[in-house]
Amino acid sequence: MPPVRSNASLELLYNISRELATSINLHEVLPRVLFLCVENVGAERASLIVLDEKQNPVDAAIVYKNQLIAHTTRQLQSTLDQGLAGWVRRNRKGVCLTDTSQDERWLRRPDDSDQRTGAKSAICVPIVVHDQLVGVLTAVHPKPGVLDQNALDLLQSIADQAGFAIYNARLYEALQSAHRRYRELFEENINPILITNKKGRVLEANNRALEQFGYPLKELARMNIYELHEADLEQTGKDSSLLETGKTVFYESAFHTQDGQTLPVQVFVRAVPVDSEVVYQWVLEDIRERKELDALRENLIAMIYHDLRSPLSNIISSLDMLHSFLPPDCMENLQPILSITNRSTERMQRLINSLLDIYRLEAGQSITDKRPLEISRLCYEAADAIQPVIEHKHQTLNLNLQSEYPRVYGDEDMIRRVIINLLENAAKYTPSGGEISLITQASAGWMQITVQDNGPGIPPAMQEEIFKKFSRVQSKNMPKGLGLGLAFCQLAVKAHNGQIWVESELNQGSSFIFTLPVVE
Ligand code: ADP
Repeated sequence: MPPVRSNASLELLYNISRELATSINLHEVLPRVLFLCVENVGAERASLIVLDEKQNPVDAAIVYKNQLIAHTTRQLQSTLDQGLAGWVRRNRKGVCLTDTSQDERWLRRPDDSDQRTGAKSAICVPIVVHDQLVGVLTAVHPKPGVLDQNALDLLQSIADQAGFAIYNARLYEALQSAHRRYRELFEENINPILITNKKGRVLEANNRALEQFGYPLKELARMNIYELHEADLEQTGKDSSLLETGKTVFYESAFHTQDGQTLPVQVFVRAVPVDSEVVYQWVLEDIRERKELDALRENLIAMIYHDLRSPLSNIISSLDMLHSFLPPDCMENLQPILSITNRSTERMQRLINSLLDIYRLEAGQSITDKRPLEISRLCYEAADAIQPVIEHKHQTLNLNLQSEYPRVYGDEDMIRRVIINLLENAAKYTPSGGEISLITQASAGWMQITVQDNGPGIPPAMQEEIFKKFSRVQSKNMPKGLGLGLAFCQLAVKAHNGQIWVESELNQGSSFIFTLPVVE
């Protein structure tokens, strides 16, 4: 072997570092590095085996007589298990065999026999980066005594450079695969997602968005999210100022699809910092099905109470007639039964009327039947209506009613039902033995009616929520209900230009308060 001159070695190392810098793709780079090695140390054969974290071979380049030769993972595995490379993998040390026939670590092959090329010289070095063994580099010369310590040093320098290339390629691959994974999560998300700049111009859209809205990406990329749907400025703030807080903002809206339809959507939008910029991510969940179900539920409710009202009125009038036709001597036995039947039918009628009121008031109908209200009478009647429940639960109902009332106008039946509803809830949610109070007060311009209990109270986060339809506090052993009572109360009180709210503390009790305006 010609002596390895130091300037030649430097040049080789420089060339190798240039090769390694040209591409991040190891399949291209490793063979080129090997050819340079073979050429410069005068080797006949060289191999570079790449190992994974578990030290198993994952890749390799093998050069023999200036030809790249094919290999299988099994061949690599057997070389590593038995040959010189295996010894280096286990010991993480470079080794130079000046005469392979004299060393047991050399795995004999047919061409090592005396009749063929015979004894050889060989070098094998570990490729270690950041304390991790990432590969093994081997060079073999057909003659003994040619590859020496100088060649070992040179090969180790090459191995160190290759180590960084393998390490970088791995980082790059990990980055690419993370990128692919996140891209896939974006593209294949079940909801349409749009990315816009702060002005609303669409920058990106996932597959679902293209599919659902029907626009080709090119067209969508020229559009503005604010043209595509009606943003709820109360939620996003004017000029999207509320989005800048970083919180996810959500609201319902309708999205204009390419075929001129509007699709009901639940919008979730938030600002996402990407590099030095901020973009907005819009998730637009299709809520067609939910809307259809809502409409179905509304129709069903409307149908039920329309169809229940008339048979119920017939029952009530028949009961009245029965009452008047019965001879006085049977009254004593029948009275308790008749009173249960009466109360039950009245309760049913109240429920149906309240459902019908929800339906009408939501549709924007105003109260037409307004008369002066005798609040104290309504309170006594309401108290009387719930007396059986109070007795059944051994509760106490205190009435603290004002004697003089200012003038309040309204729909008598509706306001009575509001008071009954609040009293019913107080009795229902307060445990047996509890105390309930019905209080009336007049204050400047308002008549105030309070239903107070010492029941479980309502968590602060639910104190506004419970006035929405179908909204209920979820807790263990909750009495059954539909979550419509308070929605009715709120609609009824608001239709009278009043206000309703709850003041409550957990485990202390609740006060449901409503006001009605006083007419001078
Ligand atoms: P429902 O009683 O049918 O559930 P409501 O609209 O009347 O429907 O009440 C809504 C929810 O408010 C109830 O489910 C209950 O969780 C809560 N709530 C109402 N009144 C009281 C009360 N007095 N004490 C505690 N919780 C109450």
